[in-house]
Amino acid sequence: MEGVITIDGPAGSGKSTVSILLAKQLGFFYLDTGAMYRAVALQAEREGVGPEDGEALGDLCRNLELRFEEGETGLQLYLEEDDISSAIRSPEMDMLSSTVSAVGEVREAMTELQRKMGSRGRVVAEGRDMGTVVFPNAIHKFFLTASTRVRAERRYRERIERGENVPLTEVEEDLIKRDEQDSTRNIAPLRPAGDAIIIDTDTMNIEQVIQTIHDAVRMKSL
Ligand code: C5P
Repeated sequence: MEGVITIDGPAGSGKSTVSILLAKQLGFFYLDTGAMYRAVALQAEREGVGPEDGEALGDLCRNLELRFEEGETGLQLYLEEDDISSAIRSPEMDMLSSTVSAVGEVREAMTELQRKMGSRGRVVAEGRDMGTVVFPNAIHKFFLTASTRVRAERRYRERIERGENVPLTEVEEDLIKRDEQDSTRNIAPLRPAGDAIIIDTDTMNIEQVIQTIHDAVRMKSL
């Protein structure tokens, strides 16, 4: 698949910041699949559908009118006419998105939608299973990782900047719990594709990570 770059990794590995910048530099579409699972979680909560009801969740996904739109503060996610970009970023949605995303009917519907959204190519697809399941034929695959402490500190800083008052230990515990859930689920668990380049971002800044990706993409395109 020409023109598809997949970026997977656990929470706080830096993949969103990197994917957004990379897409901008290349003039590619940024496909934020985590935001899509968060939208499913939000709608499930609004409709009172529990994670145990796979059939209802599958219907909910198939009727989900989702679209990404360029806004003043970056890419916004709309659910019908409702801008849900902020609502999906709460700690509750962190956990609920992880729970609903383990449901087979949800993954089936979202994988299909993500492939459709990426079908025209020129896309940076970010998530947990982009390289393994959604775009297994992509030529450029990356898996970003970092130690738990560094990832927790990044998430902690983001939340403090958003004006939340939360202890680092709590952020770290939530992160560990979510990663454990994402890595041990039966369908499309978080793991690097066999042909992905693994980048440990512990001691790297964003520019260095982006440079590593650009270099790798150039090498393969030569
Ligand atoms: O990336 P983000 O933290 O926004 O993702 C929220 C949740 O959505 C993850 O914890 C994961 O459970 C789920 N997800 C997934 N597959 C993806 C992207 C996200 O299961 N491709």
